[in-house]
Amino acid sequence: MPSIETVEREAMEAVAAASSTQELRELEIRFLGKQGVLTGLLRAIGQLPPEEKPRFGQQVNAAKARVQAAIDERERELKRLENAARFERERIDPTMPGRRWRVGRRHVLQATADRIKAVLGGLGFEYLESPELELFRYNFEALNYPPDHPAMDEQDTFYIDDQHLLRTQCTAIQGRVFERRKPPLRVFTIGRTYRNENVDRTHGHTFHQVDCFMVDEGVSMAHLKGTLGQFARSMFGSDVRVRFRPDFFPFVEPGVDYAISCPFCGGSGCAVCKGSGWIELGGAGLVHPNILEAYGIDTDRYSGFAFGLGVERIPMMSHGIDDLRHFLENDLRFLEQFPS
Ligand SMILES: [Zn+2]
Repeated sequence: MPSIETVEREAMEAVAAASSTQELRELEIRFLGKQGVLTGLLRAIGQLPPEEKPRFGQQVNAAKARVQAAIDERERELKRLENAARFERERIDPTMPGRRWRVGRRHVLQATADRIKAVLGGLGFEYLESPELELFRYNFEALNYPPDHPAMDEQDTFYIDDQHLLRTQCTAIQGRVFERRKPPLRVFTIGRTYRNENVDRTHGHTFHQVDCFMVDEGVSMAHLKGTLGQFARSMFGSDVRVRFRPDFFPFVEPGVDYAISCPFCGGSGCAVCKGSGWIELGGAGLVHPNILEAYGIDTDRYSGFAFGLGVERIPMMSHGIDDLRHFLENDLRFLEQFPS
């Protein structure tokens, strides 16, 4: 059996040579732990003559205390060194300029769409979505397009195959809703639409539309004008007026294009309204009875109105943006100009 002195010397040398606090922990267990080498010497006490027992016990405990003290001292030293090394590794240069914190924001079109959603939602319309990859049937047939209508031309529409296309108008949602639900209906959608256009300042292949419709008993042009007036006043200001002019769209009868009195000059004429006092926003009308009947809705009892408008038109008008292409180019110099 090794002597107390031998074990203590071995422990002291190991402690002095330890190069990390982790290593010290292991030495502490190895020499002083319950199964440790020094502690183990105490187990030999039974073989000693009775008169030597107390002295031996004292010697072992004194050796344990000295080793413990050495471990504690070495630990303080190593911690100092380890901290110094860590501080050196993590040193920062407070004179360096900081990195600019860039805050994300809603896209100007998203912000516009959110406003429209809030206004139409407040008027009691329910927001629904329908696919951008649409069936020919919903995009044209269901909307009362005659088979030879020029809008169906491949020149104007992105066809995927004979049945599928990228929707050219959000109005395509109507057939999908009429198919599943019965009146009374108040529904709107906002989403991307696609046209096979040559891109320039005022034409894009991808743009956004709102389509809104209501079907109930006795719905008339008066309801349409009242709703559009309320919508326009909420969006553009309390003194905005709405003007209807006859127009033709296959899915409405009668059809109108509608304009609002220019919110920038009050109707007296300015650069935004090009001196006319009016700004055209979109098309509207009463839902064509052919459409309602095709979905089994009794047109003696029910009628409906529908209107649509382009989302881009609104920020273009209110921020004086003259090029449609900016919206989809993701240039932060453009996008960061708008409040989120
Ligand atoms: Zn004006």
